[in-house]
Amino acid sequence: MGLFEPIKPKIKGFMDEDECALLYELAKEAAKIGPCLEIGSYCGLSTAYLGMGCRDSNGILITIDHHRGSEEQQPGEEYFDPELLDQRTNKIDTLPLFRTTIHDLGLEDTVIAIVSKSETVARFWQTKLGLLFIDGGHSLKSVFSDYSNWFPHLQHGGYFVLHDLYPDSSKGGQAPRLIYELALASGLFEKVRFVNTTGVLRRVISGSLPPSVEELWEKIR
Ligand code: MG
Repeated sequence: MGLFEPIKPKIKGFMDEDECALLYELAKEAAKIGPCLEIGSYCGLSTAYLGMGCRDSNGILITIDHHRGSEEQQPGEEYFDPELLDQRTNKIDTLPLFRTTIHDLGLEDTVIAIVSKSETVARFWQTKLGLLFIDGGHSLKSVFSDYSNWFPHLQHGGYFVLHDLYPDSSKGGQAPRLIYELALASGLFEKVRFVNTTGVLRRVISGSLPPSVEELWEKIR
């Protein structure tokens, strides 16, 4: 399956075509530095593009999701999709569609799916990463937890990518943008690109952590 064949309409997801293409390009480059890691697989749309990029550089993509849907995808919420409701458990289950996506694109030897909360996986994670894409839960607590748990694993020169960065609250939730600003304020990243609502930073300092997360948080509040 080629990059620009129309796979997007077949996969449920919330990402524009140019953002998908950006993920492909970044993953293709980053996979040469180290494994790429995604938080928030959902039905596999962004996973597909990141995965194709990794595959084309002979790399791997690890993607983490509990597959129970994020806060806004629960029954009664704005992004609830009844097709994703498991009738037996009455819970959201995006894993079957995710698995179909990865199978149909021939990415089963490239994409490693971890079915878990990201904070659980982070507890014993040790592998350095070439790319970190955060697109999981969009509450401030979730995005902050994903950021603080995972950015220390980014290699020097690796990409930190955040989705759903909206200029103001009339366009969308502000938690990802706050974390983007927090990362920039830390001095550990430089700006690389911005496409629609996807921001790309590069890790510029290796092995040093900010003196205090609270201190940085104060700076951007
Ligand atoms: Mg998103």
